[in-house]
Amino acid sequence: MDTINIIDAKNHVDQEVKIGVWLTNKRSSGKIAFLQLRDGTAYFQGVVVKSVVGEELFKMAKELRQEESFYVTGTIHEDARSHFGYEIEISGIEKVGASEDYPITPKEHGVDFLMDHRHLWLRSKKQFAIMKIRNEMIRATYEFFNRNGFIKIDAPILTGSAPEGTTELFHTKYFDRDAYLSQSGQLYEEAGAMAYGKVFSFGPTFRAEKSKTRRHLIEFWMIEPEMAFMHQEQSLEIQERYVAFLVQGVLDNCQYELKLLNRDPKVLEKYTKLPYPRISYDEAIKMLQDSGKFGDLEWGVDFGSPEETYLAEHFQLPVFVMNYPKAIKPFYMKPHPTRDDVVICADLLAPEGYGEIIGGSERAVDPQYLTEQIKKAGLNEADYEWYLDLRRYGSVPHAGFGLGLERAITWITGEEHIRESIPFPRLLNRIYP
Ligand code: ATP
Ligand code: MG
Repeated sequence: MDTINIIDAKNHVDQEVKIGVWLTNKRSSGKIAFLQLRDGTAYFQGVVVKSVVGEELFKMAKELRQEESFYVTGTIHEDARSHFGYEIEISGIEKVGASEDYPITPKEHGVDFLMDHRHLWLRSKKQFAIMKIRNEMIRATYEFFNRNGFIKIDAPILTGSAPEGTTELFHTKYFDRDAYLSQSGQLYEEAGAMAYGKVFSFGPTFRAEKSKTRRHLIEFWMIEPEMAFMHQEQSLEIQERYVAFLVQGVLDNCQYELKLLNRDPKVLEKYTKLPYPRISYDEAIKMLQDSGKFGDLEWGVDFGSPEETYLAEHFQLPVFVMNYPKAIKPFYMKPHPTRDDVVICADLLAPEGYGEIIGGSERAVDPQYLTEQIKKAGLNEADYEWYLDLRRYGSVPHAGFGLGLERAITWITGEEHIRESIPFPRLLNRIYP
């Protein structure tokens, strides 16, 4: 008899198998018990029929507790009524680990309670589906960048300086000097691009921002590609191909998980068609003003979530908003060739109200310009000597972007809040468990 995982049930129809499982729920009558089982790969039902298995085993099955672990043996059958499509008719149970009074019962619980029990909450169906989709998006990320000639260059987490100012940085001691947790690997990726052409980083980043929105985590994972000999227009093409590839990966490999989440694949299919619309910041401002919904919104402001939602809703697709005012963007963005009030950049706004998922730009190449901008931003010039070296020795046009993994997951899974898109979220008021 084979020991299998639930996910492989389809290959064992009418065969006898053994599976290590946990009990998620059960219901029974005097003659038949239905055990809801999970093993980390999928969820399905075990059926125990008293007249087949006898009194003793039937009693044992009926008395199993929620999240108790055990081995089942039995025969796999098709079960057209379930999402999963198969069930097991149980002939044997071998107990492994007891479970008393599991705190997350099948009734409704509040978010705080669930977050306090995040270490157990991860076992539930919806969380399983989100984590599997997260995993698929990570897999697809590596595939996309490897296929397209990128190499992964890991940026440091501990940094001695602050790429975008210190207000949102976590401070720590580095022996007897100051250090910060990285809020972006970008500047290091620029060094990587000058060394290896096309590179990307994928790692945790930290923002000490006191924002308590459904889009902000304190610790989140970012994918940051950087490309030498490349202008912004080609970078936008890579960005949209990458996002469409993520969506396609989920469509190809996560149909079961999308079903568990009630996320309509038809909606996602629209996002695999390229190109995505592009509008300028100027046009975006005009659209927002013309809508009459945003008071006396003026050119120069940064968009908040209502503005981003309005713009993306208009197109019903991810949309690039290009060339924002210089004053609201970081120092390293390339100035516009004919206008001194905007920079060559774009944010990609996700549809359905999910807001910005990518921020990217072409990078400034003139060392003198950069030195001025560093000063203007109130940053310490000496910290950026190494960065300026990249412009002193064979500087080339280059562009890059950062995609926030959890923002993208929240959008693709269609979830309300970003907190469920990462196994152990760090939020303004939460660092437990
Ligand atoms: P926002 O204006 O929404 O705070 P940002 O302009 O600070 O975003 P960037 O610094 O450009 O964002 O970061 C690049 C990407 O990282 C964003 O497009 C987003 O996907 C993601 N991101 C930024 N901040 C957070 C956060 N606090 N939690 C999760 N993801 C984030
Ligand atoms: Mg921010």
